[in-house]
Amino acid sequence: MSVLWVLGAGQLGAMLKQAGTPLGLDVRPVDIETTETLPLGKDDIVTAEREEWPETHATKQLSTHNNFVNLATFPQLADRLTQKQWLDRLGLATAPWFPVEIGTTARYTYETLGDRVLMKRRRGGYDGKGQYWLKQSEESEIPEDWKGFAIAEQAINFDEEVSLIGVRGKNGETHFYPLTLNLHINGILYASISPLQRLNTLQAKAELMLSKLMDALDYVGVMAMECFRVGDELLINELAPRVHNSGHWTQSGASIDQFENHVRAVSGLPLAPIEIKSQSMMVNLIGVDLDYEWLNIKGLEIYWYKKEVRPGRKVGHLNFSSNNDDLLQGALTKLDLPTPYNEAIDWLKINLPK
Ligand code: ATP
Ligand code: MG
Repeated sequence: MSVLWVLGAGQLGAMLKQAGTPLGLDVRPVDIETTETLPLGKDDIVTAEREEWPETHATKQLSTHNNFVNLATFPQLADRLTQKQWLDRLGLATAPWFPVEIGTTARYTYETLGDRVLMKRRRGGYDGKGQYWLKQSEESEIPEDWKGFAIAEQAINFDEEVSLIGVRGKNGETHFYPLTLNLHINGILYASISPLQRLNTLQAKAELMLSKLMDALDYVGVMAMECFRVGDELLINELAPRVHNSGHWTQSGASIDQFENHVRAVSGLPLAPIEIKSQSMMVNLIGVDLDYEWLNIKGLEIYWYKKEVRPGRKVGHLNFSSNNDDLLQGALTKLDLPTPYNEAIDWLKINLPK
């Protein structure tokens, strides 16, 4: 039987493997630092849990395999400059932006984008790392090592952040989850809620946007689109050509979770419409220790990544799905987590259906 290799062996790779197991698939996440020679078969398939990778013995082997799905798309989306250029070409709305070049001055960025500007490094940023706020009031200059390596974006005063997770099959068929409402604190995702009835009016618009992109790239698998909602408009913040943290709730709340959908799509297995089973919320575990007492909370599911706990590091997540609103609200009162979780818990209490 052929193997599905995953470039990267973090939590996303582990969850892809977990999703493939009941289907009888042999999913093997690969640590990019391994010095092993991988027993790659000609009919094997390769996917990735990350959009970018250094050249190593392992990544060289995987990225030269003939069946690396979406290989050409990764560098296009991993670089924020080319990603934004794709969105512009397709007429998909984003925050106003431009590339930060050698001659770019802070004054020019303020004149062009307003007095709050966010610079983002073109490559390698995650969880709000690789961001730099320029504020006219502070008269900061652009640091030299950002010139040529970043884009500048207008700060958006968004109403809230939402994301859409979709899957596209080899035959071009697409399926989508309902929009997810996300809370980021200091650039890092803390909590998600889906579905939310009040977001239904934006669903069709969001699906059209992501479809346009996936079709243009002839993409196969799961893709995530993070957006800012400003009134009735959606501005695309960023795209991820992979399974995504804001889709983790699908593990408990949907008939087919994002990991299974990705595995099915890249393996060429049938896709089917997704049934949403119940109201879901997800809480990321960021820099906190595992506490098995949480298992006493009815409806709670723990996903622990077995990583060393460090401040600001995602080390797991909690999923809760139920059609009993009181149960979800009740679970929140029992979760005892340090600052800034008070903000996240309040946000969940307010935004969950009551
Ligand atoms: P990820 O972990 O999702 O890959 P990232 O660090 O790569 O995140 P972004 O998703 O671009 O970076 O930004 C992280 C967060 O920073 C956003 O979710 C949002 O809260 C905030 N942010 C990003 N761009 C803007 C903007 N133009 N205006 C206001 N806030 C922004
Ligand atoms: Mg993001």
